[in-house]
Amino acid sequence: MEQKEDKLKEVISHAKEYGFVFPSSEIYDGLAATYDYGQLGSELKNNIKSYWWKSMVQMHENIVGIDSAIFMHPTTWKASGHVDAFNDPLIDNKDSKKRYRADVLLEEHMEKIRLKIEKEVEKGVKRFGDDFDEHQFRATNPNVLRNAEKIKEIEDRMRTSLEANDLEGVYQLIMDCEIVCPVSGSRNWTEVRQFNLMFSTEIGSVSGDAATIYLRPETAQGIFVNFLNVQKSGRMKIPFGIAQIGKAFRNEIVARQFIFRMREFEQMEMQFFCRPGEEMKWYEYWKETRSNWHKALGLGDNQYRFHDHIKLAHYANAACDIEFNFPMGFKELEGIHSRTDFDLKQHEQFSGKKLQYFDPELNQNYVPFVVETSVGLDRMFLAVLSASHKNEVLEDGSERTVLSIPPALAPYKVAIMPLTKKDGLPEKAREIIDGLKFDFLCQYDEKDSIGKRYRRQDAIGTPFSVTVDHETLENNTVTIRDRDTMEQVRVNIADLHRLIDEKVNMKTLLV
Ligand code: ATP
Repeated sequence: MEQKEDKLKEVISHAKEYGFVFPSSEIYDGLAATYDYGQLGSELKNNIKSYWWKSMVQMHENIVGIDSAIFMHPTTWKASGHVDAFNDPLIDNKDSKKRYRADVLLEEHMEKIRLKIEKEVEKGVKRFGDDFDEHQFRATNPNVLRNAEKIKEIEDRMRTSLEANDLEGVYQLIMDCEIVCPVSGSRNWTEVRQFNLMFSTEIGSVSGDAATIYLRPETAQGIFVNFLNVQKSGRMKIPFGIAQIGKAFRNEIVARQFIFRMREFEQMEMQFFCRPGEEMKWYEYWKETRSNWHKALGLGDNQYRFHDHIKLAHYANAACDIEFNFPMGFKELEGIHSRTDFDLKQHEQFSGKKLQYFDPELNQNYVPFVVETSVGLDRMFLAVLSASHKNEVLEDGSERTVLSIPPALAPYKVAIMPLTKKDGLPEKAREIIDGLKFDFLCQYDEKDSIGKRYRRQDAIGTPFSVTVDHETLENNTVTIRDRDTMEQVRVNIADLHRLIDEKVNMKTLLV
């Protein structure tokens, strides 16, 4: 547990030191759960977006992309159910004035009991040594059994209360578990209330005209309200998809774990419109396709797992998450939801406009069913960054920190380094950059020893470093070093473009 927290801390400090992610408005001590992407972070983020957009939009004949406004007509959120049902149960501690998610307090309480069980098992291992039968121990030890029973009881009561929207029941459970505020240590709690996660603001300069509008909590609704615009103007035939990348906002009660849970974040969503009755086929198709998209990055197939939802959202008839093994453990990276015809039907009802498709093959009108894929761009960023961050001990005993970012996503593709700052080497290096810069983001670096420069490029994940030396001036050859193998070979300048392209082209991920 502690090791994992250390890993996250290391990633956060590396991200700041090298210009990937900064705390937002840091000179004012930052703003909770808000971060800014720095010069390298923006490049990595753009490359992730591009990988998604190329794969989802440009390589699918029947998927198109849009960019809808963050502000939407307020009725949109009534129709979607967000005004009435996009809530988290919150509770305040009267002494510390700290606010918590009631369900998270209970989850953490159960986690503590789980840890007690693990401690008991550890004690058993110590006591019995090689003779220890863990399975038998877990099934029979009275302390383990009592604690497992406790967890089950809390889980059952929590689920029943939340499903019935019985907030008093949730409060009673917190009292019965004798949960204390981690800050004040007291049990002086307020009642549990539902808290709507949407940020609201006012539109219109004259107060009388003012109307409450919301910052969108998901990008999906911008797609639904444009369903007919896109279908008609693009002459789209079902099944087809509409994709978009954009900001979403949620007033998360407990926002933490770096960029994993923020109040302002970015989503990459695609809504796939299909015939009613065919949604499960497409749901399975998208589960597999999206899983393959993630695995193509080479971060390790065992780093991903599916988690099927047992309690489905009001709009879904099937849903699962693709979870990633973040430094904090397996957590949701992407959601895949079969949303039925819920959203389009709701918008038909609230707008009074028909949102139907005439299917020429069936010769009938219907409201299409929808399968959604929704991945958090910031969570993708954290997945790539944390899985790539490695401290390595080299053969000669020295150490290096390397970001083995998939080359197609790396911010800089190649660093060009003149061995010295004189004798025409800088000019030659710049000439090489001029030949490469149209296709690859290059960095020119002439400061410090070559060894130090290599370490710096390793730390920012640059797949190639090219050294220009005196021999270059004689025969147009350079040394190219591979970030991962650290091998150096002498090649012709004329071959550089091909060698780099072979490794960093997005095609390597897409085929
Ligand atoms: P969680 O259970 O973690 O709160 P969710 O189930 O509410 O997530 P969805 O509504 O399915 O999330 O949103 C789709 C995707 O958007 C998620 O898979 C996640 O990658 C991303 N996402 C959601 N909330 C946040 C957030 N607060 N910060 C960053 N990314 C987020």
